[in-house]
Amino acid sequence: MTNTVKAAHQKELFGHPVGLYILFFTEMWERFSYYGMRALLVLYMTTETIGDERGAGLGWTSKEALALYGWYTMLVYVASIPGGMIADKILGQKKSVLLGAIILCLGHGVLVLTDTWAFYTGLGLVILGVGLLKPNISTMVGGLYKEGDIRRDKGFSIFYIGINLGSLLATMIIGVVVANWGWHAGFGLAGIAMVFGLLNYVYGQKFLKEVGNYVPNKIDENEVSYGKLYAKLFSSPKQLVIVAILLIASIYGWYTLDWGFGLLFIFLTAITALLVMIYKDLDSQVFKDRFLVLLLSFIMVIIFWGAFEQAGGLMNLYTETNTDRNLFGWEIPTVMFQSLNAGFIILFATLIASIWAKRKLKGKEASSLFKMALGIIIMGFGFLFMVFAAIEFEKSGSSSMIWLVLAYLFHTIGELCISPVALSFITKLAPVKYASLMMGVYFAATGLGNKVAGIVGESASEYGELTIFSGIVIFTVIFGLLFIMILKPLKRLTHGAEEKERVLKNDEAEGFELVEN
Ligand code: GLN
Repeated sequence: MTNTVKAAHQKELFGHPVGLYILFFTEMWERFSYYGMRALLVLYMTTETIGDERGAGLGWTSKEALALYGWYTMLVYVASIPGGMIADKILGQKKSVLLGAIILCLGHGVLVLTDTWAFYTGLGLVILGVGLLKPNISTMVGGLYKEGDIRRDKGFSIFYIGINLGSLLATMIIGVVVANWGWHAGFGLAGIAMVFGLLNYVYGQKFLKEVGNYVPNKIDENEVSYGKLYAKLFSSPKQLVIVAILLIASIYGWYTLDWGFGLLFIFLTAITALLVMIYKDLDSQVFKDRFLVLLLSFIMVIIFWGAFEQAGGLMNLYTETNTDRNLFGWEIPTVMFQSLNAGFIILFATLIASIWAKRKLKGKEASSLFKMALGIIIMGFGFLFMVFAAIEFEKSGSSSMIWLVLAYLFHTIGELCISPVALSFITKLAPVKYASLMMGVYFAATGLGNKVAGIVGESASEYGELTIFSGIVIFTVIFGLLFIMILKPLKRLTHGAEEKERVLKNDEAEGFELVEN
């Protein structure tokens, strides 16, 4: 038996590479700062400019504040597309995460200042920073595991706990800080959290030696050239027609809706053109099919977040105005209900990942696509409890908070079936030279889901909560079932990307980077 000393990046802790825990804590602090400042944003914007003990707010109407909030939460995720492209083309994932973390420290730091320019600059920097960090750190998690390593899904579930630990701590602490020291101390706390994240990431570099270094354009035959792909569009008539139709629709949207939507649609058209050309350019049917199934799965992602993200909007307002929040004579503050989701994730993430892994080892259906469709159905069922709540409210003028707890429980179980699973799925299926871009497109899909959620939530003022909640149950359950019905052909398109997963022996498992193709 040879007695070798393992290099730092090969060391393991609790059965996973140590690098996973470095990424876990970096993401935990990043999410702490993101969710911490997100929790303050609408409140800060709507607080009066004088007379509030937490300091001056911006004095906006709630409509103005919600509009900016909707665009901001969407842009944060849509920025993952350029963030992914920069990683694929210029920096590689590891350096992109570093740059993102530095920009985030600056962004949250600027928000400590009270001037209006600082507010917009800070938000802009946070969008850029999250765009660089979020998709690329997620791709790096996948890079820690070799193709076929059954631990990959579980690794993502552990990583997902880090995300939610950050969100839970932030939502519990930041409110207290703001109540005592004012808005800008709250923003400052988010900044300090991000500095911890940056320090942790820099310290952890020795555990991440083999991951996130891939920069395809350094290798000639693999060069990714978005310019060339766009140029090829003009010699591909079918693709050009599709893009032209989308462009005309976008311009129409600009005039009929507003310039914000117009710009968004034009941006999405440009991304669609790129994806269509990448598809055409891929050199084997296997990669083409995998690429296609990945994009189809993003439809599930948009629908999932479009319903799920009622949490911060419509369900939040429902908690505030329609729910009896009294518990033994104490009125539970509305914001505390926002912690339920993160708390449930921390409780159930590893349990659910283990159930799936056991199922897979027994040879039962546990494909990512199946889990994602099931996730939509389970989350959709959660809204049934909101339907009960709305019925109770219509009868008696107030509804019990147990409905909310049950709804958030189901939403969380659904989220665990789809969200960490989708992250892992992308790292299994994306062609390696477009891996970061595809992660970026995934996050952009979640961002679009956020926007859809806002639009659906707003329509409750016209149709009433009961109709909206019932509509969500019906739509999501039917949609999830339809996806399960077409599971077989969809799975065929993955060409067995998940079928060979098994427990790798220790020395076999020391592989890094993504699927090699
Ligand atoms: N709550 C998760 C996170 O912050 C999911 C966000 C998303 O995918 N849009 O990472």
